[in-house]
Amino acid sequence: MKRYLGLLMAVVLMLSPVTMWADTYTAGTYTGEAQGHNGKLKVEVTFSDGAITAIELGEHTESPGIADPAFERVPQAILEHQSLAVDTVANATVTSKAIIEAVADAVTKAGGDAEALRNKEVAQAQAGEAQEMTADIVVMGGGAAGLAAAVTAAEAGASVILIEKTPAYGGNTILSGGYMQAAEPEYAKTVEMTDGQRSEVERYIALEPKGERMAAWQATVREQYDAHVKAGNTWLFDSPELHMIQTYVGGDYVGNPELIEMMCKGDVDSMHWLADNGFNWKNSALAIVGSIWMRCHISADYASGQGFIAIISNMIKDKNLDVTTLFEVAGTKLITDDTGRVTGLIAQGSDGTPYTLNANKAVILASGGFGANVDMRVKYNTMWPSLDASVPTTNAASITGDGILMAQEVGANLIDMDQIQLLPIADPVTGRTNNVIGEGTNMYVNQLGKRFVNESERRDVLAKAILEQPGSYCYIISTFWNSRMDADYKNNYHLTLDEMLASGAVFEGKTLEELAEKMGVPADTFVETVNNFNKYAAESNDPEFGRMVFPANAALEMEGPFYACKRAPAVHHTMGGIEVNVHNQVLNTQGEVIPGLYAAGEVTGGFHGSNRLGGNALAEIVTTGRNAGSHAAQ
Ligand SMILES: Cc1cc2nc3c(=O)[nH]c(=O)nc-3n(C[C@H](O)[C@H](O)[C@H](O)COP(=O)(O)OP(=O)(O)OC[C@H]3O[C@@H](n4cnc5c(N)ncnc54)[C@H](O)[C@@H]3O)c2cc1C
Repeated sequence: MKRYLGLLMAVVLMLSPVTMWADTYTAGTYTGEAQGHNGKLKVEVTFSDGAITAIELGEHTESPGIADPAFERVPQAILEHQSLAVDTVANATVTSKAIIEAVADAVTKAGGDAEALRNKEVAQAQAGEAQEMTADIVVMGGGAAGLAAAVTAAEAGASVILIEKTPAYGGNTILSGGYMQAAEPEYAKTVEMTDGQRSEVERYIALEPKGERMAAWQATVREQYDAHVKAGNTWLFDSPELHMIQTYVGGDYVGNPELIEMMCKGDVDSMHWLADNGFNWKNSALAIVGSIWMRCHISADYASGQGFIAIISNMIKDKNLDVTTLFEVAGTKLITDDTGRVTGLIAQGSDGTPYTLNANKAVILASGGFGANVDMRVKYNTMWPSLDASVPTTNAASITGDGILMAQEVGANLIDMDQIQLLPIADPVTGRTNNVIGEGTNMYVNQLGKRFVNESERRDVLAKAILEQPGSYCYIISTFWNSRMDADYKNNYHLTLDEMLASGAVFEGKTLEELAEKMGVPADTFVETVNNFNKYAAESNDPEFGRMVFPANAALEMEGPFYACKRAPAVHHTMGGIEVNVHNQVLNTQGEVIPGLYAAGEVTGGFHGSNRLGGNALAEIVTTGRNAGSHAAQ
């Protein structure tokens, strides 16, 4: 198994007299190990008789970018305090805990008392003096929406302060699968159009329109599709207008058509903007779970959502933009003047230092949704039996709805707050998404070895169907050919097959019967289910569950090895949030603009209606971040 060899760090401590007598060890270097986020994590820990003197990071498979702040801070803190009761790092807590546990393992091997070190109190950092700073624009949140807003505003000549409450850029964006929808015609040419897809286009054109905008989109698609057919094109038809219809219909007509139009026109441009700045797109158009159409694009270089963060944040440095980032500073309250205009925000550093950040032009809220805020989930949930703490989430811990609450305090209108998406195919225990092996549109079976749903359906339909199965989980079935693995046997998060198998949620069988045994499902039923599915895929017609759209590789190659990935729904996306207009200006409860206040990304509501299509979030956040940044800078 290929692993990252993280010999990056060797932190050596000058011993103080206090630490000298506190602990006793058998001097030497010991290897400690513990379970990290993606697999085993090792550390080499050096001890003198009385202290831990160095911690060197060994082999691990943690995700670059996401885990880095934990690698930088946790060993340093353990050395400084000679304690294992050190703080974990926000959004990298699993990695932080793994480092602590691996050092504890080494402490035990060195004859030390790990339990005593776990209980050894660490003095809290002291708050610094109050800080006051001023810029044209203050952005709150360092995911892709906030970064795109900051960069675009700075490119337009504005000075920008960006605050991020964790020690690193990323948010949910860096954790994401990295699939972005955009109706880019060149990439659609990589896909041969099937009969099922042809009838889907006709079905969308023939739907009863809800409003003038939808009728206009349908008329445009009619013309575009006729021209596509007349030209004899055999590749997949796609256009921004088809994307608009699918987004609006896919969200039960709850989304705002004006915003949907802005997003679906703008996302192709956002794709080009990223490419112009070094984002290397794979030449493909993919379907992911609940994307409805083969319109998702992904980086050829970076794992998961890391490329979005790396490329946009690098622009700050590469273009020498006037953007000052304050990490570990959380916005808490918006400042308004007598007229109600937003003129800045109050924030607090993680050490308690108070900040007053004045904005000459505007504040842009880009702090993400509220998927990790259990109280808000429970308060607004009407769609699901329960969204309490027992339901896992795919979200980063810092995604707690702060911007939504701050905007509400100054009179912003909140919309669609009850529209909370469950990702149907998360890890049943942890909610993680990075150990998925089969495509989300592959065949699903339950513990009885039977299919139970049209797998190309919307996410809410899939999640509800899975929750009704025995144990409320299912298995995604694949071979190599319809898995997410590339030629190196790595998935889109760059996890290897071995790492996925080690996660406990992925099973491998040389034959279908062997796989059935590992899953504990009846082999006869399972094999019959696979045979039926293959037949339906070949005919693009599934009489059992009405599935019409099958990617070319949907059928299971009958040669093993076969894979099953155990999956269950987890809280994923909050479609509701702050109401905005087409410039991403925040609206109050009377529908009027709140001067000086913008919102971009998942903190907003109105784009996805009752159900976000897979790949539409990255499309929205980059587009709305740029939109807010350029308008606010004017
Ligand atoms: C596991 C996972 C997989 C996904 N996969 C996909 C996919 O493949 N395609 C797709 O389209 N969508 C996907 N999504 C959804 C998508 O990633 C998110 O909707 C999107 O990244 C949100 O971007 P954002 O910039 O609005 O917020 P985020 O990226 O979440 O960033 C918000 C930032 O604000 C910071 N913050 C919060 N509160 C404060 C505060 N008070 N002060 C300062 N900073 C604050 C947070 O720490 C965070 O860094 C996925 C989501 C998850 C969780």
